[in-house]
Amino acid sequence: MPTTSITNIGTLVTNAPELGEGPLGLVENAALVIEDGKIAWAGPTARTPPTDTTHDARGGAVIPGFVDSHSHLVFAGDRTAEFNARMSGRGYSAGGIRTTVAATRAATDAELERNLVRHLSEALRQGTTTFETKSGYGLTTHDEERALRIAAAHTDEVTYLGAHIVSPDYAEDPAAYVELVTGEMLDACAPHARWIDVFCEKGAFDGDQARAVLTAGRARGLHPRVHANQLSYGPGVQLAVELDAASADHCTHLTDADVDALANSDTVATLLPGAEFSTRAQWPDARRLLDAGATVALSTDCNPGSSFTSSVPFCIALAVRDMGMTPDEALWSATAGGAKALRRTDVGHLGVGARADLAILDAPSHVHFAYRPGVPLVREVRRAGKPQGAR
Ligand SMILES: [Zn+2]
Repeated sequence: MPTTSITNIGTLVTNAPELGEGPLGLVENAALVIEDGKIAWAGPTARTPPTDTTHDARGGAVIPGFVDSHSHLVFAGDRTAEFNARMSGRGYSAGGIRTTVAATRAATDAELERNLVRHLSEALRQGTTTFETKSGYGLTTHDEERALRIAAAHTDEVTYLGAHIVSPDYAEDPAAYVELVTGEMLDACAPHARWIDVFCEKGAFDGDQARAVLTAGRARGLHPRVHANQLSYGPGVQLAVELDAASADHCTHLTDADVDALANSDTVATLLPGAEFSTRAQWPDARRLLDAGATVALSTDCNPGSSFTSSVPFCIALAVRDMGMTPDEALWSATAGGAKALRRTDVGHLGVGARADLAILDAPSHVHFAYRPGVPLVREVRRAGKPQGAR
């Protein structure tokens, strides 16, 4: 197998403590060797073993590619007007999703796929190499199934979210909609998905309905994740922990018991500050979760309604500025944390044997994501060692 080295790395973030300093396994003046799409070696540039080709990072930092473990990218339409109105003083409620449902149902498969690919490549340019994405804007068996089929052509991390909101067609009979989501719709969707999710929130699904959705999915071999405690306190986090969900997502309104439950579980608390930014809502308290010992991931929640950003660097800057995270913690949460939220061990780090999914920065250190917010710092992205286009 031909080998490639990346040398003259300013700061290398490995997230492999055995390779360097601290939890991020930092190595200064570093190099990497890639063989067969995987990391074969990492250490100081001066000790780089001979390789077939060499790529000079010119002092830029190298980080593991971001693992964005929460997005909603199979949709059509636009909610600029709603955002504009909200920023002019109107509140956000879960019902805005209906606008996107109508546009998504009206779109062709090709339109949905074009939109998905556009957002995935936008995220890739900003350093995201692993993407999770969901259904949830179809809310009929046909529309949920095609959303998942389209998503599955572009990523392995596909989540069935028929229980995003009660379909407007079932407004008078939510119980019948839960029956559909856990019955015929699940049968059609399960073959295309790895995960099942539910929006457990006032105005969406209560604790009993959420439990019915997640246990039905689990019986079909899907693993749970939960939209929990975003807009208000509620049963979502406890349910996620009880069912060993990979992740409880949002976690903005947590009781002490919720924080304890997360800290004593394998359920990751995935924080999505783009949503609080875009709805002018209270920030999730990352510091409280970290101090309690919970595992925290950071993701975009990219969706057209409440968080229309595909930028993990933007979320890192928010987490550092407003959620009490250090730059090191935020970088870890956006890479290794995201991998844990997807129960993946092959991505989110650059230890020996990891997939060579990485970003080379136009900055000497990962700290610049928060230090230089809004600046496009990702110079080059590689997936399984292959360059994904440079600028
Ligand atoms: Zn979401």
